[in-house]
Amino acid sequence: MAKVVCILYDDPVDGYPASYPRDDLPKIDHYPDGQTLPTPKAIDFKPGVLLGSVSGELGLRKYLESNGHTLIVTSDKDGPDSVLERELPDTEIVISQPFWPAYMTAERFAKARKLKLVITAGIGSDHYNLQAAMDHGVTVAEVTYSNSISVAEHVVMMILTLARNYIPSYQWVVRGGWNIADCAERSYDIEGMQIGTVAAGRIGSAVLRRLKPFDVHLHYYDRHRLPEAVERDLNVRWHPSVEDMVKVCDVVTINCPLYPETEHLFDQAMISKMKRGAYIVNTARAKICDRDAIVRALESGQLAGYAGDVWFPQPPPKDHPWRSMPHHGMTPHISGTTLSAQARYAAGTREILECWFEGRPIRNEYLIVDKGKLAGAGAHSYSAGDATKGADEAVKFKKGA
Ligand code: NDP
Repeated sequence: MAKVVCILYDDPVDGYPASYPRDDLPKIDHYPDGQTLPTPKAIDFKPGVLLGSVSGELGLRKYLESNGHTLIVTSDKDGPDSVLERELPDTEIVISQPFWPAYMTAERFAKARKLKLVITAGIGSDHYNLQAAMDHGVTVAEVTYSNSISVAEHVVMMILTLARNYIPSYQWVVRGGWNIADCAERSYDIEGMQIGTVAAGRIGSAVLRRLKPFDVHLHYYDRHRLPEAVERDLNVRWHPSVEDMVKVCDVVTINCPLYPETEHLFDQAMISKMKRGAYIVNTARAKICDRDAIVRALESGQLAGYAGDVWFPQPPPKDHPWRSMPHHGMTPHISGTTLSAQARYAAGTREILECWFEGRPIRNEYLIVDKGKLAGAGAHSYSAGDATKGADEAVKFKKGA
């Protein structure tokens, strides 16, 4: 019987919700490319409830315990005295969400001698040192597509939020003001703008689709081109490099995975090639951008705004400069953990566990690492290596630094 450690974010400060603003979720049968939603044999939760926090337990306790497994759920994940660190030596399965990632560094993989499977409840497994997972023969799986559309919606919201100067305008209302000129002096329409995505995978192409009706000019860079018919349908122009694309864009949205080759892709040099006053929306991973180069570009006016929901580390220390830099629209890492998304990735996590325990293959599209090498979706989108370096900074959040 397996010991499963599930790292989840804390419950709301006022306690686990007793009720919700809405009574149901829309019914969705499949994703835009035809892939089916998760198909576990059963679920033990009502779609629409909070599953991603500690008391929600991803709806897994009944299933795991009734099959004789041990489930430990905690939010205490960082530092040598954390529950995660203490439980690791005899844990077989670790589950965590990118929003509150269990950083599985090489040291932790070495310590977790019984570890066989790590699951990302969501998408994006860069918080696991994939090279170490391969070296230790640990399988890595994530719930591909479960929250891609959730993120695409968030990206569109953030592009509009920045260009229309929404957040400062909202704040004038809350402060009792009516400062129209203060709101308008940084407010633009996006109609006619050049908008480009780095990567046109599930999120990137969903962003393009959602932006098309705004009568903007669309661009993308991806290692593989979209089918010609899709390019025509979206009227989107492919660029042979990120540099080539950013030179012409008013807005750049980043939608590629983080792995060693994409780490700090948006550094000082790349940002200096962008149009003055461009916006960046990054809901992919923080480390794709150089933290301090973003701050400097906002201060100098090279960038007119930066928004996103991804930080490094997570949670970020209280003094992380992205909390206080000018013209930002940052939120905590939330775009992929709407209640709608949680229902899908909790069911997908259950599906992966059922397959694992019953000796059935995990869907290929859910696999990132298997049998010592990149596999499935991982072989397509990642490269071997480690993007977890520096994750120990997260301990500072606890200390309030
Ligand atoms: P997909 O795998 O569908 O798309 C990833 C795309 O990135 C693929 O098209 C891949 O291209 C492309 N790509 C890989 N490397 C590069 C590169 N060097 N330059 C340009 N493009 C590249 O994943 P999703 O769209 O569903 O998710 C993308 C990322 O978004 C995730 O890896 C995760 O980090 C982040 N994410 C964030 C969430 C949030 O809550 N903020 C939630 C979900 C995901 P190709 O196929 O051509 O190799």
